[in-house]
Amino acid sequence: MRFESPLQLILPFLWPKPPSPARKAERLVVTDADSAYAVTVVRHPRARSYNLRIKEARREAVLTMPRRGSLREARAFAERNAAWIGARLKRLPEPVPFAHGATIPLRGIPHEIEHRPLARGTVWTMTRGDAAFLCVAGRPERVARRLADFMKREARRDLAQASRHFAAMLDVRIGGVGVRDTESRWGSCSVEGALSFSWRLVLAPPFVLEYLAAHEVAHRIELNHSRTFWRLVDRICPERHRAEAWLKAHGNGLHRYGAG
Ligand SMILES: [Zn+2]
Repeated sequence: MRFESPLQLILPFLWPKPPSPARKAERLVVTDADSAYAVTVVRHPRARSYNLRIKEARREAVLTMPRRGSLREARAFAERNAAWIGARLKRLPEPVPFAHGATIPLRGIPHEIEHRPLARGTVWTMTRGDAAFLCVAGRPERVARRLADFMKREARRDLAQASRHFAAMLDVRIGGVGVRDTESRWGSCSVEGALSFSWRLVLAPPFVLEYLAAHEVAHRIELNHSRTFWRLVDRICPERHRAEAWLKAHGNGLHRYGAG
């Protein structure tokens, strides 16, 4: 246990609790008919009951339980809901690997991946008739990695450009723009102004990526989601509602493409 100040030693019952400690995860496996499912168990200080949800990005079940709940009860709860877990996992869209023949969206437009083992270069886009292609040169075992690097580079370039554009509109300074493979948030803005985004936004239509950039840049002025904040976002990005609706409908589906 860590005390924030000497007063806490004296007044342990009156002092407000420090911010929630790091969540501790445990794993268990439950079975239903012939199938076995891994369940990650997370103890949460504010959880009142046992609760199951499916994490689409990882294709796994997560069980949240009260901090003082018992692991035995958690297991029983997960086992009672094993059929539900199976049904939900089956409904998830199939993963799409970064491999020859697969189709992945780039800026909202479907592109077929075409491996060109003998070609020079790394990755480039091409159209043939109405069809768009992502061509990848080099050895077969490098295709996935080359494509992932390409997508992240393109994402960073689009996001940096959009962020600079909105920063100029609001007359604020921004730090570096980075991309990561985040699961639960599409973007973040540090107190110092560094912006970070999910590279997967480059898979979505450009108005979605632009909205996220506008959103994070607006946090340079308002570090909250107050009315003032949303007014700022609306001023520089009138497509906010359309972008939010798109993310609600298709955002989770972006996690099915390629590797992390
Ligand atoms: Zn925000």
